[in-house]
Amino acid sequence: MSVTPPARLPSHPFDDDKLREECGVFGVIGMKDAANFVALGLHALQHRGQEAGGIVSFDPDAGFNSARRFGYVRDNFTKTSLMETLPGKLAIGHVRYSTSGSKGQTAIRDVQPFFGEFAMGGAAIAHNGNITNAEALRRELINSGSIFQSSSDTECIIHLMARSIQRNIPDKIKDALLRVEGAFSIVAMTRSKLIGVRDPLGVRPLVLGRVGDGYAFSSETCALDIIGAEYLRDVEPGEMVVITEDGIESYRPFPVSEPRFCIFEHVYFSRPDSVIGGRSVYETRRQIGVELAREAPVDADLVCPVPDGGTPAAIGFSQESGIPYGMGITRNQYVGRTFIEPTEQIRNMGVRLKLNINRALVEGKRIILVDDSVVRGTTCRKIREMILDAGAAEVHLRIASPPTEWPCFYGVDTPERDKLLAANMTEKEMQLHLGVTSLKFISLDGLYRAAGETSGRNVLTPQYCDACFSGEYPVRPADMIDKGFSLKRSA
Ligand code: SF4
Repeated sequence: MSVTPPARLPSHPFDDDKLREECGVFGVIGMKDAANFVALGLHALQHRGQEAGGIVSFDPDAGFNSARRFGYVRDNFTKTSLMETLPGKLAIGHVRYSTSGSKGQTAIRDVQPFFGEFAMGGAAIAHNGNITNAEALRRELINSGSIFQSSSDTECIIHLMARSIQRNIPDKIKDALLRVEGAFSIVAMTRSKLIGVRDPLGVRPLVLGRVGDGYAFSSETCALDIIGAEYLRDVEPGEMVVITEDGIESYRPFPVSEPRFCIFEHVYFSRPDSVIGGRSVYETRRQIGVELAREAPVDADLVCPVPDGGTPAAIGFSQESGIPYGMGITRNQYVGRTFIEPTEQIRNMGVRLKLNINRALVEGKRIILVDDSVVRGTTCRKIREMILDAGAAEVHLRIASPPTEWPCFYGVDTPERDKLLAANMTEKEMQLHLGVTSLKFISLDGLYRAAGETSGRNVLTPQYCDACFSGEYPVRPADMIDKGFSLKRSA
C-alpha cells in the first residue's frame, strides 16, 4: 500500500527558537550499492535538515535513478524495496529544510538532488547554502525562456548549466557557478564523475574522505565516520574536486578570496563529533565555555547546560570556574516529530515536551544555565520559569554565542530582524525580558579565540563569516536588498 506523504512537516515548537541549518549533502563513488552508503551518510547529517531527503544514483545498465521523500532518512531510505531502485557505484544525496520560496511548505519538486539532461549526458546536483542573487538570476532565466519546475534557488544552477557552451559537465558547472553569488557547497555527479565544489569564501563546509576503493564527499566528518570512511581533507574554499575511476583532480575556477567560513557551524550547526578545518567541534565548544567563564564569571552552585547545544560549553565553563557541572535538565530524545499534528493542549506544553528539570539537582541552588544561542528568547524564558518552579534560587544565563542581531542569508533559516531579540533590546533589557538573575553573551573576540584564532577577530579582514552577530555580510545579499533589507551603516 502506498502512503501519500504529508504536504509538509511542521516544526516542533521547541525548534522555532533556534537557527536551523538548512541542508546536508553527501556523495559516494567507487562503492557497490553507493546509495546505501549515501543513505547512511544522510542519516548522520539528519541534524542539518529533517524536512525531506533525496538520493540519485547511476548504474551503467539502469541509468540514473532517483528517490525523494518527506521526513527522516531512517523512515524512507532504509527500505530494501526503495534502495533496490537506486543501484550503482555512484550516488549523491541531500537532506533539507526549505531554503527558499516555500519555507515550511516544501513541495516534493523542491526536494534535491536536482537532475538535468544535457547533450553529453545527465547530471545531478545537491546544494547546501543559499544563492543571494537567485531571484535576479531566475527572472533573467525565465525572461530568456527557461521553464522552472521548483521554487528552489538551486534550480538556477541547472538552467545556467544548460546555457553554458562548455562541452563537459564540470566546465558547465564552473560556468554556472561563476554567475552565482552567495554560499554553496555542492556535490554533483555525472555518469562517471563525482564532483564537490565550495564557494570562494567557503561559507558552508564540505569534506573529502576515502572509503574502500572509493571516495566520499560530506558536509561533515561525522557522516564519513558512519560509513567507515577515512577523512582526507576539507574541500578548500573556491575549489572544485572531480573524482573519476582514474583518480582525483582539483581545479580553482573562481577568483581567489579570503575564506569566511560560517563561525556558527562551530557554535551550533555541526555535530560535536565532527572535525572542521582540522579542529574538533566539541573542543571549540568546550573552549567557548572556558572563555565565557573568564569573561563573565559568577558566584553560583551548579553549571547546567541546556541540552544538547549548551553541553560542551557548560563543561568548559565548569572546568574553568571550578563550579560543579550537573545535568539539571534532561532532554527527551524521542520527541522529534512524534506530534505531527499537535493538539492545542500539546502545543501549550511547548518546551516541557522536550526538556524536563531535575528537581533534586537544582532545588535551592544558584544555577548557571549555559545555552548555545538566543534567537527569539521564548525557549529561554520558559526554561528559566521551569527551573525556578523546581526550586532553584537564582538563574544566571550564559550564552555560548554573541547576540544574534542579524539574519543569515547563506543557508540558515533565521527569523526576520524584527523577531530577533538581540536586534531589538540591549543586554539589560533582554535580562529583564528573560527574567534571569544575570545574562552574559560571549564576546565576538572570545568566540574567535575559542575557534583557534588566538588574537581574536581581525576587524579589517575577519577570519570567519559572523554576519548574524556583526551585521557585516561578506557577500552582498542582493535579493534581500532589492526587497528592502537595510545593511548596517558603517561606523
Ligand atoms: S550569517 Fe551567521 S549563520 Fe549565516 S553563514 Fe554567517 S555566521 Fe553562519
